[in-house]
Amino acid sequence: MIPSPISKISLEGREFYVKRDDLTDTFLAGNKFRKLHTLLQTPNEKYTKIISYGGTQSNAMLAIAALCKRKSWEFIYYSKPLSQTIKEQEYGNFFLALELGMKHIEIEHTLYRDFIASLRVNIDEKTFLIDQGGASVLAEEGLRVLATEIRDANLEVKSLAIPSGTGATALFLAQSLPEYKVYTIACVGDTEYLKEQMKALAHIPENLIILESDKKYHFAKPYPEFLEIYKQLLDVGIEFDLLYAPLMWKALLEQVDENVLYIHSGGVSGNISMLKRYEKKSLSF
Ligand SMILES: *Cc1c(COP(=O)(O)O)cnc(C)c1O
Repeated sequence: MIPSPISKISLEGREFYVKRDDLTDTFLAGNKFRKLHTLLQTPNEKYTKIISYGGTQSNAMLAIAALCKRKSWEFIYYSKPLSQTIKEQEYGNFFLALELGMKHIEIEHTLYRDFIASLRVNIDEKTFLIDQGGASVLAEEGLRVLATEIRDANLEVKSLAIPSGTGATALFLAQSLPEYKVYTIACVGDTEYLKEQMKALAHIPENLIILESDKKYHFAKPYPEFLEIYKQLLDVGIEFDLLYAPLMWKALLEQVDENVLYIHSGGVSGNISMLKRYEKKSLSF
């Protein structure tokens, strides 16, 4: 496999390196590409079907849809009932995933929890279940590959940064690169919740540093300062996602002095939906 390239950008008078995992594929990109590495390397005959569940704007959902298309696997995705708006949209992750062949099934709110729990029980050997967001030890191997690429790039930089949802990416990366500092920040929920999720996967290594935001941000809500950072980064040549990256960059610029290699975690395909919401809030360009 060819390592993803590394770019150098200048932001607020500082230099940053960026590991361009956004360039691995149009849809199977960023940390989801790394997390799905093991399945991507699995022979096609091993499975006929992949099952997953969660939000319908999820980047993981789209990446799994792209994976299944490549592997000729059926992909069934369960979610809570959808709004008519999302169903009718001809852009965004949900639309793209359906285009890639995903079969979507809605489960009533009251039944959802029990239904998801029952998936694990009723699975057959030709079916593979991917937990919400791809948070599992399945992710470990792909992040070891990323770690090797970073080590082999031999940059003078010894600090990395990647934003966290479930925290699986940051955790496994830090585990594989004990000689680096890995900065992350909780984008979904608070730091305590992030730590809990991480601990469910593995011991949190000492080189993993969870930065704290001075202000509380709600996941997937539009904020003017997020759009500002997004635009600044776009101006220097790289598009980042609008949900996770702005918070990580903000914390880096405000709290970290040393040179950093930022690991691009993908998610750019979701920006079109998010930008429309910014437009509605008249925070647009
Ligand atoms: C999924 C995702 C993350 C979070 O990854 P975790 O492994 O769940 O912490 C970060 N950035 C982007 C763009 C993502 O799509």
